[in-house]
Amino acid sequence: MSDTSVNIRNIQHFMYCPRRYSLLELNDDWSENYFVIKANLLHEHVHDGTHDFSSSEKLVRSNMTVYNDSPEYDLFGVVDCVEFVRDNFGIKIEGADGTFRVRIIEYKPKAPKGGGFNETDAIQVFAQKICADSIWGCDSEAYLYYSDIRKRVKLPFDTEYQKYDELLKNILCEIRKIREEKAIVPRAKSQKCLGCSMSDVCFPKVKKYNVKDTVMSQKGECGE
Ligand code: SF4
Repeated sequence: MSDTSVNIRNIQHFMYCPRRYSLLELNDDWSENYFVIKANLLHEHVHDGTHDFSSSEKLVRSNMTVYNDSPEYDLFGVVDCVEFVRDNFGIKIEGADGTFRVRIIEYKPKAPKGGGFNETDAIQVFAQKICADSIWGCDSEAYLYYSDIRKRVKLPFDTEYQKYDELLKNILCEIRKIREEKAIVPRAKSQKCLGCSMSDVCFPKVKKYNVKDTVMSQKGECGE
């Protein structure tokens, strides 16, 4: 890893809101709310090691660190779950007999209302795929698992690889620019902030100074 390596979880922060990412990265600001805690609990459960198993069909490993240190990406992160599915046309995995197809799965607490998947979730998994493919020399399949509907959604990286690759590279470029310039990104007018755990840090609600209120309160203190 180098100073310019990007942690995959920052890609999601950036996609949610560039200002949020800059507050986290440059100010070390952090604040949690219900949604953040719920997502953290889900990941703690997935990463506790109890989900690992081996069968005649597949090897399942949770909480796997992945990276791609090519100058093109220079990324690292953690995949919730990797399934090595036995396949005669697959690749060899160190320490295991046979050949396998690689499948990566990221857990999320809530599916989008209209069905399908969130684009911010998909780009995070695409970054994981870029890392997994570089480590194991494969073309991994990728899924999101939405725990509220208990469903896996396959991500269309086989048909839309170019689109996600360009998106990822643009995001990495923007993230590195924020780091270099060391400037907090202004709040965009179009930004939707509902549910953001950082709102108190981002725009603290300071009561406006009002001369009349101040005079009245001072009168009260003097017993007038
Ligand atoms: S409150 Fe809004 S502008 Fe501020 S970090 Fe959150 S999403 Fe971004």
